[in-house]
Parts: sequence; structure tokens; C-alpha cells
Amino acid sequence: MKSLGYRLCHVNEKNEDEFRLRANLCDGLAMSDGSACPACQGISVTVQRLANWSQSRDRFTNRKYLSHEQLCRRLAEHDETLNNWKLKHGV
Ligand SMILES: [Zn+2]
Repeated sequence: MKSLGYRLCHVNEKNEDEFRLRANLCDGLAMSDGSACPACQGISVTVQRLANWSQSRDRFTNRKYLSHEQLCRRLAEHDETLNNWKLKHGV
């Protein structure tokens, strides 16, 4: 499976909606104003898009009722969607 271009590096144990991601290209240095490096700032659009996609799909299907094969297909579709998006936007 292709990389998404970032990895999950921390999840708040008390609130799982809060998490930190790091771009694969992150150089580990914050900007002088304390904000994330340009590579990490760049992934926020991708992550927001993924979150929107996920929420729109949830409205139509309850994944509890999908078979393993259907879940695999969903995952493949998702990768394709994300990759198409990356190609279009050059992320
Ligand atoms: Zn970074």
C-alpha cells in the first residue's frame, strides 16, 4: 500500500479526536513563530479532505454490516480517491 505522506505520532488518551501527525518529509524543525514546518503544514489539507470523505461515507453505510471483502474494496477505493486527489493537487 502506498504511503499517505504522513504518519500518526500521538493520540490524546483522553480525547481521541486530538492527535498529532507528522509529514514523512518533516525535517523536525518548527518555524521561527512556533508553527509546524512547511511539510507538516502541507498535510493538513490532505487530512481534512480524508476526514470529509470519511464523514460523507458514514452517512450512507454502517461499516458494521460490511463483509471483510467489502471493507477491503472500500479501502482500495479510498486509496484510489486519495491518490487521484494527490495527483490533481500535486501533494
Ligand atoms: Zn514537520
